[in-house]
Amino acid sequence: KQKEYLQAIKLSGDALIVLINDILDLAKVDAGKMTFEQTPFKMALSISAMLHLFETKIQEKNLELVKEYDPKIPDVLIGDPVRLHQIILNLVSNAVKFTTKGKITVSVRLLKEDKKKATIEFAVTDTGIGIAESKIGNIFENFQQASSNTSRLYGGTGLGLAIVKQLVEPQGGSITVKSKIDEGSTFSFVLSFLKTDAQAESEVGIQELDDEIKNIKVLVVEDIALNQLLMKTLLDDFGFERDIADNGKIAIEKLQAKSYDIILMDLQMPVMNGFEATEYIRNKMNSKIPIIALTADVTTVDLAKCKSVGMNDYIAKPVDERLLYSKIVGLVKKPSFIKHNGSEEDVNIEIKKSKCINLDYLIKRTKANPLLMMEMISLYLEQTP
Ligand code: ADP
Repeated sequence: KQKEYLQAIKLSGDALIVLINDILDLAKVDAGKMTFEQTPFKMALSISAMLHLFETKIQEKNLELVKEYDPKIPDVLIGDPVRLHQIILNLVSNAVKFTTKGKITVSVRLLKEDKKKATIEFAVTDTGIGIAESKIGNIFENFQQASSNTSRLYGGTGLGLAIVKQLVEPQGGSITVKSKIDEGSTFSFVLSFLKTDAQAESEVGIQELDDEIKNIKVLVVEDIALNQLLMKTLLDDFGFERDIADNGKIAIEKLQAKSYDIILMDLQMPVMNGFEATEYIRNKMNSKIPIIALTADVTTVDLAKCKSVGMNDYIAKPVDERLLYSKIVGLVKKPSFIKHNGSEEDVNIEIKKSKCINLDYLIKRTKANPLLMMEMISLYLEQTP
């Protein structure tokens, strides 16, 4: 019973996190704040690493994943690999979701190439439930699902494809869908990428990339034991090395003693919170180490504050593991360790005495009865070691 309940909570949590991230993305598009990077990256590696994420899910559903990659595609191209991931991730997620038997084919084909750029067609084909002809026209609109029972049967909100369209078109691309009910669907999009002689940020083969990814050293700054355990489990699953710091001050000490590739930073913590710690790391230590904020509160106020103190990105709690993985891998470039020879004077951090516990509510509830208060506090401590 408990397992069932936990499963239900987990599913609801996962669904909510997807919804929040989708709405944030759409809000970003509406506000004209969606930006696209232009960085050299290796297309083949990028695609393989992403399809990796679906292996378990595809095996679980007894489906087959076929990858067709055109060897004529130039090795290194200039574009936004993170957004490309997001587009393909959405399309493959849908393909997996709406297919119960058969296969999912991801094909990446060179359409044309000139001196400056390469135009590539990406297609995700499934043998799933398909979409009725009458519905195909609306499928890329916000909150549109192909039938009224889609949400009940498969979940989802109808935002994924709207976002995909908003990620493809502003980059000068186009997206189309062909589908036949009960036979399957093909979503394909065309994007152009500039060619370059520059080396991609990770000049390594797929096996090496895997090793490199495995060697990512993550510093988790988080005060709540349960959240620490969750992050440990996630990062261990990814095969990353990880250290935990209970607050910003300990994080800074750890940073001075050892090099890390990325920091996952909680915001609200005793002794030194995430904003203060980031400010210190950026301004006093002059470190550019990527920092992702872990936040339960994705209001614009907090996000703006994250940005202003120099955090690179944020992720909403409870953390979606795929998103966490892609954000970490996306931000960790080639191992560029920042060595700090922080001397004792540098570590002159002011420790603020903060009051961590507020007993007002307890006093009110127990009408200040000391025995009852003691009992509640003991129980609380027992349950929250
Ligand atoms: P969501 O998946 O959250 O419902 P999307 O915007 O990703 O939202 O998709 C919108 C709708 O398009 C889905 O609800 C579904 O009806 C239809 N759809 C998308 N991809 C597929 C697919 N591969 N096969 C069948 N139907 C699909």
